Amino acid sequence: MLGWLTETDADRLQPLWAEADRVRRERVGEAVHLRGLVEISNYCVRRCAYCGLRVERTALARYRMTADEVVGSARAAFKFGYGTVVLQAGEDPGWRAEEIADMVRRIKAETGLAVTLSLGEQTPAEWKLWRAAGADRYLLRFETSNRALYDLIHPAGPTGQLSDRIAMLRDLRALGYEIGSGVMIGIPGQTYADLAGDLETFRELDLDMIGVGPFIPHPDTPLGQAATEPVPGQPPADELMTFKMIALTRLVCPRANIPSTTALATLNLEQGRELGLQRGANIVMPNVTPLQYRALYEIYPDKACIREDGAQCNFCLRGRLAAIGRPVGRGPGSARPDPKLTA
Ligand code: SF4
Repeated sequence: MLGWLTETDADRLQPLWAEADRVRRERVGEAVHLRGLVEISNYCVRRCAYCGLRVERTALARYRMTADEVVGSARAAFKFGYGTVVLQAGEDPGWRAEEIADMVRRIKAETGLAVTLSLGEQTPAEWKLWRAAGADRYLLRFETSNRALYDLIHPAGPTGQLSDRIAMLRDLRALGYEIGSGVMIGIPGQTYADLAGDLETFRELDLDMIGVGPFIPHPDTPLGQAATEPVPGQPPADELMTFKMIALTRLVCPRANIPSTTALATLNLEQGRELGLQRGANIVMPNVTPLQYRALYEIYPDKACIREDGAQCNFCLRGRLAAIGRPVGRGPGSARPDPKLTA
């Protein structure tokens, strides 16, 4: 793994791209599944050092969608032909757990879509409630498997609780969720060995969904302010490193759903997402958040695709997939096929 992670020669990398593409085709097929992303709130009580939604960022205007707006966005995802809707937010105490459960029930009843939640570190009781309401999957990125670096960028929560997302992913699995996680590449202080450790951790957790993306510094965060030129031994937060991590992720977790992320499109709008799909990825997450909220979900600056509405994103992505000869997946595109989900 270290050999591939440190390789930069374009010719010598060709076999890695080819093998990741072959394994992707063989294990999850040609179809690219589209997940409609709804950023339901940008409130957050946490202080993750890299994140533009952190509570201390008082300059950011905050929003919380209404339940009707969230269900309406899920309906739009259904209308566009997506098989899954992803409800994502910071850790927002403004939502009561029962309100989230109600939204999940309404979405399931009205659209039948697979529902993925990405709502941060919550309690097992909340996760259980949402699972019982019909939520199928949970995303919780651990960002790095290096424990010291992890602790540095994930300070304790408002009640002093320590963060341990890897342990939480195991709890989520035990509750019957498909589990998803992921990491950032090029975090200040990260090493190539850390990235190899991340890949090992993906394998150990047997993740169903894995997102890997470049660290894009936000100037109004502690880590963004600390970010300088990569020090020797630190992997660069660039496109090539991200493609290498996507390809290796496919090889260590062949059946996983792997998105070609908006962060990749942010680095290279023309080709980033397409190259990700040709180097191991099989998922794209078009945004269906109402346009008036998109720019406010500012985890990092200059995010791609924040001025287009849901219909424009749908049209654009379908065109891009057609151009590289990849069909759009039908149904929920589960990594653990469940007869109820795939019917
Ligand atoms: S990463 Fe998530 S939990 Fe941490 S500050 Fe950002 S939105 Fe909040």
